[in-house]
Amino acid sequence: MENNETDESINKVLQKAKELSYYCFTCGKCQVVCPTSQLGLFRPKSFIHKFVTEGTEDIDAFIKNEDLFNCLTCHQCSIYCPMSTDDEGIQFAEIMQAIRQYGYSKHLLDDELKLNSTHDELMQKVPEIQAQSEDSVNKMDFLRDDPALKTAEKGEIAFFVGCYSQLEDIFYNWDIKYRDVPRGIIIVLNEGGITPVVLDTKCCGHDNYWIGDMNTAEKLAQYNVDLYHKAGVKKIIVECAEGYRMWKYDYPKIVDNCDFEVQHYTDFILENKLLNVFEQEFQVNAKVTYHDPCRMGRLGGKLYESPRKILKNVPGVELVEMKNIKDDANCCGVSAFRNCNSDTKRLRENRINEAIETGAEYLITTCPKCITHFTCFLNEVDDEGNEKSASEKIKIMDLAAFIAKITQKI
Ligand code: SF4
Ligand code: SF4
Ligand code: SF4
Repeated sequence: MENNETDESINKVLQKAKELSYYCFTCGKCQVVCPTSQLGLFRPKSFIHKFVTEGTEDIDAFIKNEDLFNCLTCHQCSIYCPMSTDDEGIQFAEIMQAIRQYGYSKHLLDDELKLNSTHDELMQKVPEIQAQSEDSVNKMDFLRDDPALKTAEKGEIAFFVGCYSQLEDIFYNWDIKYRDVPRGIIIVLNEGGITPVVLDTKCCGHDNYWIGDMNTAEKLAQYNVDLYHKAGVKKIIVECAEGYRMWKYDYPKIVDNCDFEVQHYTDFILENKLLNVFEQEFQVNAKVTYHDPCRMGRLGGKLYESPRKILKNVPGVELVEMKNIKDDANCCGVSAFRNCNSDTKRLRENRINEAIETGAEYLITTCPKCITHFTCFLNEVDDEGNEKSASEKIKIMDLAAFIAKITQKI
């Protein structure tokens, strides 16, 4: 892998992370709420302390000695940290990203990345290939060629589709209808008289960015930004939680000309009163619960209300809440397709059990990765080859796909 960042810019990022870490007065509140601390895998307070002490003496040795990927970058700790506000002070996930960025550029993470990889690193390799190539492999023909959908090549409002099409190919063995998510969104937009720009964008680069591979993340960001500029786009609607986080908060930091208005589709359809699609006649009677993905919640401007408002607006849908929601929503336990192991599986199990305890038929969310990891858990078999019992088979669905399905639009 090539790394073309200058030492100067990397050191600046690291220095900023250290300055934020100096705010820590070792109260330990982070360790009480950190999901991987509860599993005995990671100690945020100790990590921050070592970073500003051992890391100042020898940052390379510090990085080599720490398990950086036992942190899920879920941001739960910073919610409770007295030295952190919504966007200032100890932003733990961003501090971790900065340290990984340095470690990645110096090849200090090579062994650790091999050890904690999943799916032969496919989810990082595909974006790497996309970043190196002139062309996108993330083709959106399945949307453009669908006669039921209206899309445009130029215009002011774009819909960033993300990687739904690829995910359906990669995880073909589960019956997850990933492609129904963008279909469902375009249907609602079209019914509201909006024909969104849909282009062959590349992966948003989320996983590469969060493991510290800035070379790949920057190339992908620049490609996507330039593509939309050429099409005259002013506003970008994003659905997937990670894509939303990247476009809204991370792209403006890593490319100079990311000057679009970025809005989550749930906010967009509420603001533009596109919910009239639900006023038509249809039969539905469903009890659902909603999982807040961290990239749309704690790390995404706390978009907690819009998805809930949409669900509550659908006649016949009853929203029942889990015990831990919004700021306290428990993590799915896999981050950037890393950390998937028997320890973090307990986090998926806990979250699924919380959902089942509500009595809901559906666990709804807006993150394709959470959907993938939860579905994976539900499809596991025990040592004797037995599937999970029917009572544990709560259905996992994306919000847009769920709405499209129950309103019989798909
Ligand atoms: S970001 Fe999440 S996993 Fe990492 S230290 Fe904080 S609470 Fe723990
Ligand atoms: S909660 Fe904040 S101040 Fe307290 S130990 Fe953790 S990082 Fe430090
Ligand atoms: S939970 Fe399943 S889908 Fe997710 S990383 Fe682990 S093995 Fe892959």
